[in-house]
Amino acid sequence: MSKNIFDFTSVSDECIKCGKCIPVCTIHQINPDEVTSPRGFIDLLGAYKRGDLELDKNAKNIFESCFLCTNCVDVCPNSLATDMVIEEVRADIADKYGISWFKRVFFWLLKYRFVMDIAMKLGYSVRTCILSEDIQGRGLKARFSLPMIKKGRLLPSMASKSFLNSYPEHITSSKPKQKVAIFIGCLANYNYTTIGDSLVEILQALEIEIFIPKDQLCCGAPAYFTGDVGSVEYLIEKNVAYFETFIDEYDAMIIPEATCSAMIKHDWITFCKNHSKSELIPRIEKLLPKIHMATDWLYKNSELKSLLAKKGKRFDSVVTYHDPCHARKVQGIYKEPRELLAQNYPLVEMSDSNRCCGFGGVTMQSEKFKFAELAGKPKVAMIRDTGATYVSAECSACRVQLSEAMHSAGVETIFKNPLELIAEALKG
Ligand code: SF4
Ligand code: SF4
Repeated sequence: MSKNIFDFTSVSDECIKCGKCIPVCTIHQINPDEVTSPRGFIDLLGAYKRGDLELDKNAKNIFESCFLCTNCVDVCPNSLATDMVIEEVRADIADKYGISWFKRVFFWLLKYRFVMDIAMKLGYSVRTCILSEDIQGRGLKARFSLPMIKKGRLLPSMASKSFLNSYPEHITSSKPKQKVAIFIGCLANYNYTTIGDSLVEILQALEIEIFIPKDQLCCGAPAYFTGDVGSVEYLIEKNVAYFETFIDEYDAMIIPEATCSAMIKHDWITFCKNHSKSELIPRIEKLLPKIHMATDWLYKNSELKSLLAKKGKRFDSVVTYHDPCHARKVQGIYKEPRELLAQNYPLVEMSDSNRCCGFGGVTMQSEKFKFAELAGKPKVAMIRDTGATYVSAECSACRVQLSEAMHSAGVETIFKNPLELIAEALKG
């Protein structure tokens, strides 16, 4: 058992067994069993800590079935962080069982951007051998069944050139009002590059000077949710040391991705506390006031809303906004993207915009994809009921999950990051 493990005992002692978390739990909704519920997880984690539960294959399966959606934390009268204790036990699972080869390769590539760039370029050139383009441009479809990927599954699109390699490091403005750096996130860097293009266009329209820090690495979220402690440690240390070299010169570093933003703003410190990296904590705390999710910062610190109202084109296409777990529940951001979108698009709320889309992380999207499929169905039904042309969320993980779920349900709604829709409106 890990020495610096999150305090399982206090979490399990503080659970008053009220059951408020059970109806909102994403895994319990699709596997209605007490063991796959926040209350059940907490009971099992307490037993594990006391040495009464062996971390066998069954326990491993149970702890890997949590979507880390934080719905339970939101409603718990004691705000018990079930997701965080599960993230910690996953490090023990990784210690005992190892990490699958394909995840190890993926996490290794996330640490070495140069090699990842080459791998993605190669992947782009040979993609049509095993994948075909979706005619609506939503991504790539598997031509035949592959290990863990069934034929026809919609996968993220691939770009010929990454966002970071497509722009100069500095994009100046003649009379800059503000100066911001961009942290792009891996999916927006390699797969959905129009998000970064849109962010650059928006910042240019606002006459904000842009810095694109080329040596930024992955925030560590995929490795953290899988229990790969070594990779997370490496990525935090490298990124912190790099951000320190420029952060004081900029008004903010903005991130067009809920998961990366939540990882840096919340999970970096939690990770450091639990893995004896306390020397990094004051350094991270010093960076945090400058780190923001993109729509949140643009709404609060720029003239974007009034620019959209005065000069933005008005569209008839209905947009429905999905709240990424890492935006609304973890960072309290839900009003800001809606306020910006509402300047130019009719917004229609779905019946439960806060319900988790069912992405769940790398393990859920590979070995446990059947759970992701089940969790996606109710979300897709509520998107379909709005009749929206676009479903929007500032999260590319939600995009991967919802695009595939809508594609397999035959729903034509297109997923767009709010920044893509906003940039479109600014084109007039
Ligand atoms: S994080 Fe989500 S899936 Fe996991 S226990 Fe909490 S509500 Fe359930
Ligand atoms: S809501 Fe909190 S206190 Fe109540 S059962 Fe769930 S985890 Fe325990």
